[in-house]
Amino acid sequence: MILDGKAVSQTVLERVRSGVERLRARTGAVPTLAVVLVGEFAPSKIYVANKKKAADAVGIASQDHLYPGGLSRDELLKLLRSLNDDPGVHGILLQLPLPEGMNEDEAIAAISPEKDVDGFHPVNLGNLLAGKPSMVACTPAGCLEILDHYKAELRGAEAVVIGRSRIVGKPLAQLLLARHATVTMCHTRTRDLAAHTRRADILCVAAGRARVVTGDMVKPGAWVIDVGINRMPDGKLAGDVDFASVEKVAHAVTPVPGGVGPMTIAMLLQNTLTAAERQLS
Ligand code: NAP
Repeated sequence: MILDGKAVSQTVLERVRSGVERLRARTGAVPTLAVVLVGEFAPSKIYVANKKKAADAVGIASQDHLYPGGLSRDELLKLLRSLNDDPGVHGILLQLPLPEGMNEDEAIAAISPEKDVDGFHPVNLGNLLAGKPSMVACTPAGCLEILDHYKAELRGAEAVVIGRSRIVGKPLAQLLLARHATVTMCHTRTRDLAAHTRRADILCVAAGRARVVTGDMVKPGAWVIDVGINRMPDGKLAGDVDFASVEKVAHAVTPVPGGVGPMTIAMLLQNTLTAAERQLS
């Protein structure tokens, strides 16, 4: 079975659209996302344009704070504080990476946790660890949404996550643990990767290395979630999973593109709606 992230993201966006309408009818307020982009990193400009377009399509307003010429540390912190204090702003999206030399951790920590729609703030990461998720990072939340949509059994399942980044692997492992999976995390120092992956009922791959998981590493009947997005020399996109060989062994697998990718923006908008609902309640 191919897990169609594009279709699942449409159901999330539809849910967000009706949530926005309900909130608007009840409070008169339009959920608003402040988008902060510092510098001239070309892929970031595309990501931001896509996020704004998707926001618009579900009735979420976006507010531009674009600084192609850069911003000083103090100016950025001042901007984030003013957005924190602005009751007309419900979510703050600080597009990463920041230009070289700027301290991302400091900037993320300056965002109010209630408006941290990316779920990267230490308070939100801590809440996840404490089993009280509030704002969950969008890509891991999107992986869970796909598994739930297709009714994968997580309780008691052997789940293996490859990758331990702060934005994907670690939060994803916590979400699976919260759903009563038995979770193993693998990384570059893992001695025998295949020994772990072959035990996985649920295998989530966020290594950032093209086709690091092949069919012989997958348990027959497993669910495989491929988070990776790798640009190949021929210009095409490839996941971290070798789709052709894994598809033959797995019960279900996400394609790249069209799997986890579309979920990330959908979950960002879901988080923006949730933030607005909380702030307006
Ligand atoms: P990252 O920060 O580079 O982390 C990669 C992780 O994978 C690290 O923990 C690394 O281990 C581990 N790893 C790398 N090669 C490995 C190998 N051969 N065997 C086992 N573990 C290995 O990357 P990320 O930000 O988490 O992103 C991961 C992938 O997801 C990337 O392809 C990225 O483009 C993609 N992504 C997609 C979306 C989306 O919307 N679909 C969103 C975010 C990221 P160490 O810790 O030991 O170095």
